[in-house]
Amino acid sequence: MSDLILVVEDELALQETLAYNLKRQGYEVETAGEGYQALAMSRKLHPDLIILDVMLPGIDGFELCRILRQEMTTPVLMLTARVDEIDRVVGLEVGADDYMTKPFSMRELMARVKAMLRRVRLIRQEFNHPPATEEASSQMLVFDNLAIDMNRREVTLNGQALSVKPKEYDLLSFLAQHRGQVLSRELILERVWGWDYIGDSRTVDVHVRWLREKIEPVPANPHRIVTVRSAGYRFEG
Ligand code: CA
Repeated sequence: MSDLILVVEDELALQETLAYNLKRQGYEVETAGEGYQALAMSRKLHPDLIILDVMLPGIDGFELCRILRQEMTTPVLMLTARVDEIDRVVGLEVGADDYMTKPFSMRELMARVKAMLRRVRLIRQEFNHPPATEEASSQMLVFDNLAIDMNRREVTLNGQALSVKPKEYDLLSFLAQHRGQVLSRELILERVWGWDYIGDSRTVDVHVRWLREKIEPVPANPHRIVTVRSAGYRFEG
């Protein structure tokens, strides 16, 4: 059965172009051009992925995404016309899984959609078939006052559980498992966000910044997640 994608966009030309291209890739597509209608359709259809424009009549994309986040785990790819909205789009408050800034290439959008759907399938598989080896599932990484429980996907600092988003956890555990190594933004994107994620590296930078605010005593002068100029990041422990 093909994946169902809900396209929420009030610019009719773009909505139609998106629907046309997604259908050509073999997806089932439903469309909405208004926030309340999109919310009702999401609840009724349970799409596999939602492409959501920020600027919408009715409820805007921010508010809609916030509501959806409380009700379902459907991945949301947000379309924004403004670069300065990105922090908010992928932030805790709104919580989109990914974003694209307008104008975007249709080809890149298709690659993102494919990568997001693949991640969902992998997560479902892992959920249904947890790792076979005890060792892999019961690892605990400890760095002084910082502990990462790989089994429970929990991070504690000074014995206190930290509230980290799933992507922040994925990023931190990836960095921590490669302690001392310089990891490029591209590699991090590929390994944490998906193999064929044609993302932009600001996604990595934004998440690193959030992690630093949580695990660094002085976020502006980090000593755990260190920036290696023109190379990437290195986790020091
Ligand atoms: Ca719009």
